[in-house]
Amino acid sequence: MIQTILEQAVEQALPAVELGEPASYIPELGKVDKRQLGVCVRTLDGGRFCAGDAQVRFSIQSISKVISLAAALERCGFETVFSQVGMEPSGDAFNSLVRLETSESCPSNPMINSGAITVDSYLVPVISFEEMLAFTRALCMDEDICLDERVYRSEMSNISRNRAIAYLLENKGVIRSDVERTLEFYVRMCSLSVTAESLAGFGLVLANSGVVPGTGRRLLKAETARVVKTIMLTCGMYDGSGCFAVRVGIPSKSGVGGGILSVADRRMGIGIFGPALDRKGNSVAGVKVLETISARMNLHIFADQA
Ligand code: GLN
Repeated sequence: MIQTILEQAVEQALPAVELGEPASYIPELGKVDKRQLGVCVRTLDGGRFCAGDAQVRFSIQSISKVISLAAALERCGFETVFSQVGMEPSGDAFNSLVRLETSESCPSNPMINSGAITVDSYLVPVISFEEMLAFTRALCMDEDICLDERVYRSEMSNISRNRAIAYLLENKGVIRSDVERTLEFYVRMCSLSVTAESLAGFGLVLANSGVVPGTGRRLLKAETARVVKTIMLTCGMYDGSGCFAVRVGIPSKSGVGGGILSVADRRMGIGIFGPALDRKGNSVAGVKVLETISARMNLHIFADQA
């Protein structure tokens, strides 16, 4: 039943790959074949279902912001994390500088570049990249996750905008760690290679309040999982979060590599790969797949339960 729904969802959404383009501001991402589309679902009772390009490796990009937020909540605590980063949707593009200059407030939330760079600045003194990699592998239940050196170098040579954000934040006293080290850490996290299946694994752990189903191993406090899922719901699809919440209603986080991580709470984790992006940076066909899955499996958080 789930298998059939996934296959039909991919088939229906496939033409939409023509409506978007891969991110080209990171040149290495622009080389990816935009006609790929895949989905994986992992359920709490041990089911695993895939359709399309679910095993293709791609760049995690902004979905790593969820991992950084989770690590910072665990290592530094809620008060520290949200002392300098807000919890409100920004309504601006993910890489916008606008509010950093006009408002006195800190980055709007941890799911946009300014917020994630700030969160990473807390992590730099307390955790190594190798530990973050191990943490990511555990959360995704995928030991093959690695740093993609080419993507890393490609983004590092086109880092001006994020560098501007980071130095502005340092100037405002929001970032207190070394700016260049923080940027390197941030770009490394964005350059990890995952599959739709790895994202489904991560979604499953979040759906199960931080515990790996089957083994019972707790990777995150229940409170961390709750905070992360709530921020994903309100801010995870950048300035498309409101529309996505109405149409799909599943806490999700997208990345410009074409991935989407989605969590149907207490039911399943969903991973998507579809590198053709809309103008906001979300996977065009991926969102369509999620719309179908949400409707057919009744996954909207406010779905009629009657
Ligand atoms: N590494 C990308 C950047 O900083 C991540 C953006 C994204 O996935 N939206 O621009």
